[in-house]
Amino acid sequence: SLRSSAELIRAEEPVLAHNYHPLPVVVAHAEGTWVEDVEGRRYLDMLAGYSALNFGHRHPALIEAAHRQLDQLTLTSRAFHNDRLAEFAESLAELTGLDMVLPMNTGAEAVESGIKVARKWAYEVKGVPADRATIVVAADNFHGRTTTIVSFSTDETARAGFGPFTPGFRVVPYNDLAALEAAVDETTAAVLIEPIQGEAGVVIPDDGYLTGVRELTRRAGCLFIADEIQSGLGRTGRTLAVEHEAVVPDVLLLGKALGGGIVPVSAVVARREVLRVLRPGEHGSTFGGNPLAAAVGSAVVELLSTGEFQRTATELGLVLRDGLTSLQDKGVGVRGFRARGLWAGVDIDPAIGTGRDISERLMREGILVKDTHGSTIRLAPPLTITAGELRSALGALEKVLTQG
Ligand code: PLP
Repeated sequence: SLRSSAELIRAEEPVLAHNYHPLPVVVAHAEGTWVEDVEGRRYLDMLAGYSALNFGHRHPALIEAAHRQLDQLTLTSRAFHNDRLAEFAESLAELTGLDMVLPMNTGAEAVESGIKVARKWAYEVKGVPADRATIVVAADNFHGRTTTIVSFSTDETARAGFGPFTPGFRVVPYNDLAALEAAVDETTAAVLIEPIQGEAGVVIPDDGYLTGVRELTRRAGCLFIADEIQSGLGRTGRTLAVEHEAVVPDVLLLGKALGGGIVPVSAVVARREVLRVLRPGEHGSTFGGNPLAAAVGSAVVELLSTGEFQRTATELGLVLRDGLTSLQDKGVGVRGFRARGLWAGVDIDPAIGTGRDISERLMREGILVKDTHGSTIRLAPPLTITAGELRSALGALEKVLTQG
């Protein structure tokens, strides 16, 4: 690059919407678990694009699949068939144990599509009176940024100034089956939850919660929609986070890592009875299911089908947990943490700094993380990280906590 990191950051200021507050690092190159800035400084990526980079940067198998497809066909739109889409849908259905796939692009689109499908299912199959369908969601959820999705957010920053909001949602506390039971009635199309709440700080519900949601929704005759856009595809040590309780939802929302960190790929994956409600003209996307996305998505599913990444996430998840437990025991400023697989939310003593402060200090130590809110930081490295790299990140965290 002809311009320095500082110059590039300054250049963004007047011309780029300020809807993010990035750490002051300008990445120009990346491979595996490492990124390199404009000046050639190297950083260990402990965020992995909010889990869009579960297989690391530029995983060779994914890059090869993308290159191969770039040389053949990149886009048809769904006006025509393309020769890659059948395989993608077949492999994704097989990986998840569900029947049908609705391919979209971003996570928020998958959520929106899941909401539309659930409402239509409620009217056509369940028999809810027209325009009366409700969807029950959890407080502190994060499902994306569209107008309808922020309508049922409980985060004022995400909502304020964006009304009027879409009606038809009921919010209950997360991890509270009694509250969920009380909110579900004959108008309920679906219960939509994250099996682990990522943006809320990697909040893991009690054992039995997901099983309870499954039983309750089955009894109530409504759909269980699991948003696994951040929790899914290997992150927690299983292909899906719901597998920790051997639960199969009716509708699964996937995104982020499904595109291998190369292209945006998301999907609604569901039982046939549910996705069957969509007929020609009722829903769509110009880019959804494009051959490049399908080729990369198929290669992602193939990587996951060996179980190798899930195993690494489980094994190194123990290293992560041990490291955080030891920091907590040493009393160096870790107040608490929640971890599953290679995913942790770490609450830092606010006296030491905000999550932002800690992230900036870690950046200066060559480690990239991101705060969620307050004094909580999130650790979610690529599943290709080594034990040594993970230990060095934990060492850097100890250093910034103890040396300020
Ligand atoms: N759902 C969950 C659980 C997420 O974590 C996210 C993104 O962080 C989304 C949905 C939205 O995905 P996208 O940013 O691709 O729209």
